[in-house]
Amino acid sequence: MSDVTGKKGFATRAIHHGYNPLDHQGALNPPVYMSSTFAFDSAAQGGRRFQEEEGGYIYSRISNPTLGLLEERMAILEGGEAALVTSSGMGAITSVFWTLVNPGDEIIVDRTLYGCTFTFFNHGLERFGVKIRHVDLTDPAKLAEVISDKTRIVYFETPANPNMRVVDIAAISEVAHSKGATVVVDNTYCSPYLQRPLELGADLVVHSATKYLGGHGDLMAGVVVGSAELMHDIRLIGLKDMTGAVLSAQDANLILRGLKTLNLRMDRHCKSGLAVARYLESHSLVSKVYYPGLKSFEYYDVAKKQMSDFGGMIALELKGGLDMGRNFIDACQMIVRAVSLGDAETLIQHPATMTHSTYTEEERAKYDITDSLVRLSVGLEEEEDILSDLEQALGIAGSGSNIRVMSKSA
Ligand SMILES: *Cc1c(COP(=O)(O)O)cnc(C)c1O
Repeated sequence: MSDVTGKKGFATRAIHHGYNPLDHQGALNPPVYMSSTFAFDSAAQGGRRFQEEEGGYIYSRISNPTLGLLEERMAILEGGEAALVTSSGMGAITSVFWTLVNPGDEIIVDRTLYGCTFTFFNHGLERFGVKIRHVDLTDPAKLAEVISDKTRIVYFETPANPNMRVVDIAAISEVAHSKGATVVVDNTYCSPYLQRPLELGADLVVHSATKYLGGHGDLMAGVVVGSAELMHDIRLIGLKDMTGAVLSAQDANLILRGLKTLNLRMDRHCKSGLAVARYLESHSLVSKVYYPGLKSFEYYDVAKKQMSDFGGMIALELKGGLDMGRNFIDACQMIVRAVSLGDAETLIQHPATMTHSTYTEEERAKYDITDSLVRLSVGLEEEEDILSDLEQALGIAGSGSNIRVMSKSA
């Protein structure tokens, strides 16, 4: 394996790390190993590989060279010892928990979580004797009050999906480690280009690689990054046996392709994200904009401390609440009405009835997911075209016209 990229910058590592074409017949793009299983030279060798006395591949539910290259790149980009890739973000998250948690353990999570992560904890893990406590992790003192020797994991997203709450990774890690808890951060909204939780004290990073890492809306995948020891356990327990959530080599190849432009795409998402957030903030119909790069935002200082830029995700509320929000969503022409995020296309959705409808109504009220919240994933189109679509949509919503615009211009 080449390691010419050890001290190089982010983009150089994302493009070159762990691969030298001259080791592969000159192929510029790494070969895609479409193989479920791998041959042994003897019965004895097969036995040694299963006993971990000898390295080498066995079966692709455990490891595969194409997935391995992606894992090496994700580890170096996040600043971790090792990584593991999975067939979805939920595959990554559940593999971590099925490996590390036992009945009787307690886990502490932030008030706001992505919808399916919330249901995995509150409607899933809880049935197996794990206690879930929701704590406002934007205030490290609140964690210090409730954490105990029973706390196995402290888990959060920052910024959180969908309401953009920002958690101080270094401060929370310090409190969690004082009681021996493992800190797991969902870094999906930032990607390692904007934020590296392991360098700030977290123990594990998880991603939905379906979003910015893949970046083109054509695949589902997940990533876990952390110490070699934890990754070994999560691979052989959470991935191999408990979930079987193995990624395909084809999709790993597409993520390797996506990573090559991650920094360029993120710079553009950030630039347009800030422009859109500022525009929305100045609009008379908008009552609130949640974006970490706005000085008026509650969590601006923490965001500035731990993120290198502010990303492409925005949440907003309109005067007139839910009905106005729905009219606004329906009036978008180029912007696509769809869940997911981090794609080239700007996407708009309504968390309460879509991504976060996995919460009950009472749960949404309890955990700050308001019915009027609208979520926007700012894409890579020309900034002025995104702004003008928003402007015409706000105009239609504001005029009270309920006409559903069915035509799509783009
Ligand atoms: C989408 C998402 C997930 C789940 O990932 P999938 O790839 O859809 O399984 C987890 N966390 C966050 C923050 C997400 O946005």
